[in-house]
Amino acid sequence: MTPINRWNGRLYSQRYYDILEKRKTLPVWHHKEEFLKSLKENQTLILVGETGCGKTTQQIPQFVLEAVELESADRRKKFMVGCTQPRRVAAMSVSRRVAEEMDVTIGEEVGYSIRFEDCSSGTTVLKYLTDDMLLREAMTDPLLERYKVIILDEAHERTLATDVLFGLLKEVLENRPDLKLVVMSDTLEAEKFQGYFFGAPLIKVPGRLHPVEIFYTQEPERDYLEAAIRTVVQIHMCEPPGDILVFLTDEEEIEDACRKITKEIENIGDQVGPVKVVPLYSTVLPAMQQILFEPAPSLLTEGGPAGRKIVISTNIAETSLTIDGIVYVIDPGFAKQKVYNPRVQVESLLVSPISKASAHQRSGRAGRTQPGKCFRLYTEKSFNNDLYPQTYPEILRSNLSNMVLTLKKLGIDDLVHFNFLDTPAPESLMRALEVLNYLGVLDDDGNLTKLGEIMGEFPLDPQMGKMLVVSPEFNCSNEILSISAMLSVPNCFVRPIEAQKAADEAKARFGHIDGDHLTLLNVYHAYKQNNEDQSWCYENFVNHQALKSADNVRQQLAYIMARFNLKLCSTDFNSRDYYINIRKAMLAGYFMQVAHLERTGHYLTVKDNQVVHLHPSNCLDHKPEWVIYNEHVLTSSNFIRTVTGVRGGWIVDIAPHYYDPENIPNSEAKRVLERLYDIAGNLWTSRNCDHVIYSSQD
Ligand code: ADP
Ligand code: MG
Repeated sequence: MTPINRWNGRLYSQRYYDILEKRKTLPVWHHKEEFLKSLKENQTLILVGETGCGKTTQQIPQFVLEAVELESADRRKKFMVGCTQPRRVAAMSVSRRVAEEMDVTIGEEVGYSIRFEDCSSGTTVLKYLTDDMLLREAMTDPLLERYKVIILDEAHERTLATDVLFGLLKEVLENRPDLKLVVMSDTLEAEKFQGYFFGAPLIKVPGRLHPVEIFYTQEPERDYLEAAIRTVVQIHMCEPPGDILVFLTDEEEIEDACRKITKEIENIGDQVGPVKVVPLYSTVLPAMQQILFEPAPSLLTEGGPAGRKIVISTNIAETSLTIDGIVYVIDPGFAKQKVYNPRVQVESLLVSPISKASAHQRSGRAGRTQPGKCFRLYTEKSFNNDLYPQTYPEILRSNLSNMVLTLKKLGIDDLVHFNFLDTPAPESLMRALEVLNYLGVLDDDGNLTKLGEIMGEFPLDPQMGKMLVVSPEFNCSNEILSISAMLSVPNCFVRPIEAQKAADEAKARFGHIDGDHLTLLNVYHAYKQNNEDQSWCYENFVNHQALKSADNVRQQLAYIMARFNLKLCSTDFNSRDYYINIRKAMLAGYFMQVAHLERTGHYLTVKDNQVVHLHPSNCLDHKPEWVIYNEHVLTSSNFIRTVTGVRGGWIVDIAPHYYDPENIPNSEAKRVLERLYDIAGNLWTSRNCDHVIYSSQD
């Protein structure tokens, strides 16, 4: 082997050789010949293999790179290999790893692209990207001509975007005989994929799992978080060395568990070994992502108790990222999953029981390097009787308006005959079309309008896109840009357990009495006024990283605005209309998410009469009669989160097409709106009369 790296012409580093040794031990390594032969002979290939066998990182994309001629006939044009990932953390972490393996700099030969962050360049030959980003690329490059090979990874996850890609790629492959597709998955759905892709050949890479002993609880656990923490501490005190992986549902829970576990283990003192507790969720910082792969902390004293790494993760660690050295898995049996009720159009992330397939995946994580143990915090009976065999594909449980807009933008008009792997419920599709029609994205014949064309360019939900595109008409696009950016990044407020009171006071200082959106705007303005200073953020309990990304997102959105000549403007801050215009522009996007305060003291959503409560995180100092909200959260109760007050008069002004009193169920809201329409109607006729009189005098 030559010591020169063909990708950048430099000498290989020692690290390269070290990693190469490890690569050679991965099961996929031994299937290189078979894989390349099959790839040469077929346009589509399905590859299945146990999680961690080396599909994503080390082998397949790199094999492809070695084997496929990336230079086209006219040597100026270079092709790329693209590998999709359902999760952004995975796209980032995996591409970094592969860059190391290939001994190149990330962002150069190997890059990644996720929403609002493109870390690739003209020299990139291997790009990891989230599935929705590949869909976005298809909007401007319908035949995906920059790629020679596309790898759809984690296909079994069946995210909405991956499912749309299936249908799209099936068409693209017919039009581009030179394009190749590799679908990678765990074993479960492989045959279904095979059938879908005209019987494409299937390569199976046998796994190499050690036995995992499974334990169930005798009784159902009342509080799985508390039970999980207790189990971690017990394992650490009583079990032989080996790292621990705990599955929880979201950032908040994970951070909470990290603090509690660290504290409890500290309290035990030095009869137990040192621990390193590492959180893993979608927005965790890149620095943390690296710590994940570092070894457990070393011994404090010679011959003393062994150290342990404890990873607390969402389902990212189920199949997307493999962390070596895990011997104990704790599985409470829950995950946050999207659920959608098309009747009332509520999509929400709900903590729900996982499937048997997920439970199986989770336990498998314990047996990668040696025999392991998995503690399921539910009863065996519950496993057998209550869990579904498989997780439902996302397309069957999502609000589809964003997907329909994407498909329209991709030029696919006939949704009914689009070749879905699993066809979504007709009711969900109808709802999506209806929503887009109300927003003015689609005309009555279902074609994209001019507005729809522009909105489709923004990587945002249709409501937010609409709010942004119409904001210049309300003379507040600068402010709506900032609000959209703030809504697109993780929660910026920090509330550490040991300083909750101070944090709440800090938040209150940013509070705007009319609504949470305006509070977010205040935070953003304050951040900019304080020169984006990190210590200012720290003192004011706001997350510097979140604000920094908001700033970046804002810039990118502003750039898209400029491309369409959408004016950047603001109402004079001292004008009475400053906040009014902003609230009106928000209503113009979110008019389908309005709730009315009934005399009984609770809020009711207007079109479907659901009782909802203001989320306790709100900053309002009163209960406005009408509110718009950013999201519905179903937890112990039906909450609306990120809320701002609007006025009834604006609703009849801005969204009369949606709030036709004839279609509103009986409620106070309906009566109030009817009255407002009467007033507006009278105003309108009298204005008309004025006009007539005026012209007759003329
Ligand atoms: P698969 O895609 O088949 O599930 P992967 O390619 O993700 O498997 O992982 C193969 C191996 O690479 C695993 O042993 C995993 O721990 C290791 N690995 C992945 N990312 C990193 C990283 N950033 N640092 C060190 N090892 C890594
Ligand atoms: Mg993988």
